[in-house]
Amino acid sequence: MRNKPKKKLAILGSTGSIGRQALEVVRSCPGLFSLEVLSAKNNASLLVEQALEFEPNAVVIGNEKHYQEVSDALSSLPVKVFSGKKALTQIMEYTSSDLVLTAMVGISGLEPTISAIKNGRNIALANKETLVVAGHIITRLAREKGVNIYPVDSEHSAIFQCLAGEFHNPIEKIYLTASGGPFREHSLNELEKVKKEQALKHPNWEMGDKITIDSATMMNKGLEVIEARWLFGLKPPQIGVIVHPQSIIHSIVQFEDGSMKAQMGLPDMKLPIQYALGYPERIKSDFERFDFLNYPKLTFEQPDSKRFPCLGLAYKALEKGGNIPCVLNAANEVAVEAFLNNRIGFLQIPEIIGQCMEKIEFIDNPNLEDILQTNRKACSLANELIEQKAVNPH
Ligand code: MG
Repeated sequence: MRNKPKKKLAILGSTGSIGRQALEVVRSCPGLFSLEVLSAKNNASLLVEQALEFEPNAVVIGNEKHYQEVSDALSSLPVKVFSGKKALTQIMEYTSSDLVLTAMVGISGLEPTISAIKNGRNIALANKETLVVAGHIITRLAREKGVNIYPVDSEHSAIFQCLAGEFHNPIEKIYLTASGGPFREHSLNELEKVKKEQALKHPNWEMGDKITIDSATMMNKGLEVIEARWLFGLKPPQIGVIVHPQSIIHSIVQFEDGSMKAQMGLPDMKLPIQYALGYPERIKSDFERFDFLNYPKLTFEQPDSKRFPCLGLAYKALEKGGNIPCVLNAANEVAVEAFLNNRIGFLQIPEIIGQCMEKIEFIDNPNLEDILQTNRKACSLANELIEQKAVNPH
């Protein structure tokens, strides 16, 4: 790749876990990438630090309160500074990124991703919620614009890697692997009492808070089932989930002749990030290599739908379609936040989501405005339900 021009990147959500690891990849591959845009919602000091090191053409700080701080700190550099909710959506028109890494949290990634696709930018998608809430809009738009969406989620990267050279062969089924999270062996009684500190300790992966709680409830796997439906054009029965506590096999494709291909390696998000940024080429790395003898047993279990109802709720949302996956996602975002603030218990997360899915009006084939409105309605209903349930933390 040495003689090629540098690939121009925009990293949306550069101060989060995926964003920081993406910048580690960029740092370790001198000559391959240049930065067009970095963006953060609130973490102004880290954004400034990153901008001083990588000298992007522009930075966006979402929270306008931090605009002056960022602008002052970068005044000696030719870095344009923007702020506010609309800035991220508008900046896709002005900058010439080859690839946009979407690494924001939750539905906030939706409109910037749509703008990036409209402007013909390829997407490295880490913000799975975008596909969960509006997969039909995003995939249709990407087809129209000839834009590629490269998965960053490790399971979907695994499927994508297994499909290399197989694009003319139909998929019979895929299996997304799940670690089972920190509560894999907890009873229902124990789950009732778990605290956020326990939920935030993931056994295998280092990730942001929201996704770590989603892993503990297995909603993360549910969101990934919906994400896979859109990325690979599958029907719900073609998407299986298998618990694999060692997180070495990252996912599996089964073809029509019964053959299965799996992608494996040590659990490290830098690998799928680097694969998406470097695609179609694999970039040489010094990441730690897998040693078979450190893992003499790779084991597999059926996910338990009684203790982890979020996975079942996600399949239900996928079957129903329309705006229901958006309801699922919105209620989950609000419930996870409430759990992180010690306002509700762990098992109330799926209760609140289930109730919202029952109560919000169904819309078939929703447009973007329907999605945004569903999101607002589901968030406010979830908040009401939490008010009713909220326990006094003392
Ligand atoms: Mg994943």
